[in-house]
Order: sequence, then C-alpha cells, then structure tokens
Amino acid sequence: MKKLGMIFLCAMLCVASACKRFGAPRAEASPESALSKNTAEIKFPIINFHHVGPIATNATEKQVTYTTTPEVLEAELKYLKDHGYRTVLLDVLIDAFDKGVPLPPKAVALTFDDGWRDQFRNAFPLLKKYGMVGSFFIPVGWVGHSKVMGWTELRELADAGMGVGTHGYLHWHFDTIHGWALDREIVQTKKTMEQHLGRPVDVIAYPGGYYNAEAIGVVKAAGYKLALTTKHRIGQSAALRFEVGRFHGGNSLETVTDPLTSNSY
Ligand SMILES: [Zn+2]
Repeated sequence: MKKLGMIFLCAMLCVASACKRFGAPRAEASPESALSKNTAEIKFPIINFHHVGPIATNATEKQVTYTTTPEVLEAELKYLKDHGYRTVLLDVLIDAFDKGVPLPPKAVALTFDDGWRDQFRNAFPLLKKYGMVGSFFIPVGWVGHSKVMGWTELRELADAGMGVGTHGYLHWHFDTIHGWALDREIVQTKKTMEQHLGRPVDVIAYPGGYYNAEAIGVVKAAGYKLALTTKHRIGQSAALRFEVGRFHGGNSLETVTDPLTSNSY
C-alpha cells in the first residue's frame, strides 16, 4: 500500500508540474498540436515516370530503367481505373497540409520528369483517354530542345488540367551547387515558368533526386509549396513538404501496384 501511495503521489506531482509548465486550458495553436499537425502522416503514393515510348532492342540498361512503353503505361492506368484509384494533382497535398482538406479516397499522383516530348506524344493522350491527370516536371533550360517539350506543349498540358512544375534549369544536382547556380536552377526557373504559363508554379522536383539543407532553404524562400524527391516513401507530412517521397514507375505493372498495395496504404 505504501508503494502504491508513492506511485499515486508521484503521478499527482507530475501532472501538477506539467500543468504549471504548460498552463491550462491550451490554446488551439499549441506547439505540440502544431508539431503533430506537421508530422502527421498522410498516406499518398506518388509514382515517378521518365520516358514513355518504345524501348529499342539496343537500349542501354539506363534507357530500359527509365522508359515505360505506352502499352505498359496503359495497363497501369487501366489497373488504377479498374481498382477505383483516383489520380490527383499535387495541389491536393498542399491543401491537405495548409488547410487540412482530406485527400480523396484512393488518391494517387502520377509524375513525369524531364519534359521529354515522348511524354506529350504517348502519356498525355493516355491520361486523357482514361480521364486522368499527371504532373510534368521540366528543366526550364531544356524547354524546346529537340527531345523536350516547348512552351506550347506545356501550356497545352496545363490547359488540359495537368500539373506542370520545375525540375531545375539544366538539371544540375542541387547538392553540388551553391549561390547563383541554385538561384538560377530554383528561383529563376519558377519565375520564367510562371511567366510562360500564366499561372503559379508551386512544385519543384529535385533533378536526380539530389538536394541538401541549402537547396531546401532556397526552394522555401522562392515560394514553392512542395518539393519532390526520389525517396521511396508513401507517408507524406507537412514537416517534410520539401522532401516529398515518390516511387519509380518503370516498365512493369508492379512498379505501380507495389506502392499501392503495400500494407502502408
Ligand atoms: Zn530528371
């Protein structure tokens, strides 16, 4: 009984000291609730594609890895449709973080990096066919090169309800550059793209998935609301809004179905 009494006394003292430290009642914007809001995980799979086109018989290993054939992409989109998934733009994650708007059920985002013309030629028509949306990330200094979309195509994507964001200027890896180079790759690209598209550009995808604290600081100061990595993570949180996770979408149905069917989603 004596031991129990001591435990009870300790418990009472702990509660009293906690009250004294934090005060009561709590205002709604307490540091703890802000922290838990920031770190609360939202399960949201984002798939990351690159080239969408045929794979040549003499293709290199890298070309094979980073290419999805239109046939496989269509099978992937059909799977999403048949299983009740809903493709969404990344704005829904921004609204979830900033306004607490819940994501639609079975939401999934499809992203396409590097701005290849084959994405416009092959992925865009398939997305339209299935009534789906995708987000395209383009190195602004590459726009209009022979293998990369021009502003006309990018405007057409945006006008059709697709997402368009930046992917650096010359695709330099952000963890190896500083100062003016980071400014050109992150800040100037946002301004240029917004001028050409006539709408805000809120999302950046790190070229090659490379970034560091300095790059995050520049991304944040430039006014982006999200930054996408290549970290395989399904749980997204406001605290890591500049380190959003994505899965590699390759030339097999499993690259899309695995993140969706994992226990964590
Ligand atoms: Zn890239």
